[in-house]
Amino acid sequence: MTPDPVKDIVIVGGGSAGWMTAAALANATQGACRITLIESEEIGTVGVGEATIPPVKYFNSRLGIDEATFLKETSGTFKLGIQFIDWHRKGEAYFHPFGQYGAEFDDVPFYQYWIREFVAGRTRDLDNYSMAWAASAAGKFQHPAREKRLIQSTFDYAYHFDATLYARYLRKYAEARGVRRIAGRVTGAAQDSETGFIQSVSMETGETISGDLFIDCTGFFGLLIEKTLKTGFEDWSHWLPCNRAVAVPCKPGGTIDPYTKSTAKKAGWQWRIPLQHRIGNGYVYCSDHLSAEEAEAELLSSIEGEPLAEPRHLRFQTGRRKQFWNANVVAIGLSAGFMEPLESTSLHLIQYGIMRLLAMFPAKDMSPLLRDEYNALTAAEYERIRDFLILHYKATERRDDAFWRYCADMNIPDRLQYKIDHFRTHGMIVSDERELFHNPSWIAVYIGQGVHPERAPALSGLRPSVPVEQRMQQVRKAMNDAVTAMPEHRQFIETYCKSALQ
Ligand SMILES: Cc1cc2nc3c(=O)[nH]c(=O)nc-3n(C[C@H](O)[C@H](O)[C@H](O)COP(=O)(O)OP(=O)(O)OC[C@H]3O[C@@H](n4cnc5c(N)ncnc54)[C@H](O)[C@@H]3O)c2cc1C
Repeated sequence: MTPDPVKDIVIVGGGSAGWMTAAALANATQGACRITLIESEEIGTVGVGEATIPPVKYFNSRLGIDEATFLKETSGTFKLGIQFIDWHRKGEAYFHPFGQYGAEFDDVPFYQYWIREFVAGRTRDLDNYSMAWAASAAGKFQHPAREKRLIQSTFDYAYHFDATLYARYLRKYAEARGVRRIAGRVTGAAQDSETGFIQSVSMETGETISGDLFIDCTGFFGLLIEKTLKTGFEDWSHWLPCNRAVAVPCKPGGTIDPYTKSTAKKAGWQWRIPLQHRIGNGYVYCSDHLSAEEAEAELLSSIEGEPLAEPRHLRFQTGRRKQFWNANVVAIGLSAGFMEPLESTSLHLIQYGIMRLLAMFPAKDMSPLLRDEYNALTAAEYERIRDFLILHYKATERRDDAFWRYCADMNIPDRLQYKIDHFRTHGMIVSDERELFHNPSWIAVYIGQGVHPERAPALSGLRPSVPVEQRMQQVRKAMNDAVTAMPEHRQFIETYCKSALQ
């Protein structure tokens, strides 16, 4: 017998996770399900989350959102990657670009030739071969070319935007597609005594809202997934020890950098995210090594413009829920887990959770097969990202503060150690299936953080007749020429936003 379809979906929470979920479900179910979102203005949202990675484009385009309109509505800017300052050693910087290095000139990947030259001592600076960095360093932007033979096709991009404005924009989108919004605080949940499924949630006002499928988007509260279902949490703070942040926006200057800056500090790191109307700044730190007062003072002394608000302090624990989908509750957003914002992966994980849920959309019986597959795939995604983040901390050569000594000495997951061993021994990048961060991301962080290969990948060395040096020079020249012809990032945004749909 075919089980009854899900007809009533209840989303609890109206931060980025709640409204992204509401918008995507409304778009996908096209009126077949009743969708209710409950949010409490009194509790509010986490209110940070401004940098993204390239897959965010697919989320917006799946919803049919016009890019220029989106940037205008969210005060958004373009992001070509992240510059990491003082992470390897104080006084050094490297760039993690979106897109590839160089341009392929035969069937050996460009980065393997670069490693050959690096091991031979003929080149040092990997950033020089990144189109994304060439444009970033010059403060320029235009969309990548579609024509694959052009150097302008070798970079990719994401966005910086105001997450509160994004949630507001998606609210308009979702409500226009029939999503019902209820304002107020959820205080309890009624469960089926046999299955444990949540039947309804109750509001402070006494009202109850019933549903077949509940999405927990209550942020760090984890109201349904944890407080009600007691799912459990896998703590990763021994690998990702930062557990606090203080954030403050400040006035912007004249130009807009098309990239995020991450500067390593005494007990963590500081972000700088340029939007159209302000710069987002924050210090992510470990409370074992720094007090909230010290972090705030350090942050305020190192921002470049006048603060636009009082500093906001946040607490978190890195890790993930033991199950993301439990009974008839799917946790999306901070309620599912958090790995700190170093590589801007949280909004991506929201998007990933929503897309997976749509691909495995359940009937009312909540097939355990679907649930288990969803949980397994999501756990694997979290773990791959976690290992990439740990690499940044582990591979530091800083020993100046206790925090960095802890990071350098900590034990790391076996799989990450295995990947590092491969790269160090023969320049090979071990890439797991479905890896979010592809080879250029790993090589950027390995080389940038001083994990240097002892040997070049063998194939690159079997081709002594390939004029690698000459090809590399041609690549650099092509990049410089391309960047010269690009518009300034600010100018590009202003013109582009004028083309937004009304
Ligand atoms: C310091 C920091 C920096 C970050 N930077 C980035 C970044 O650069 N890029 C990125 O991708 N991500 C970043 N993130 C993560 C990002 O902020 C979140 O993933 C994103 O905002 C989604 O949050 P959320 O919607 O899950 O939770 P929240 O924003 O906390 O929303 C929770 C919602 O649940 C509601 N709620 C809670 N309890 C109840 C209740 N009892 N009844 C009714 N409603 C309730 C609240 O009112 C709110 O509407 C950062 C996070 C932190 C902490």
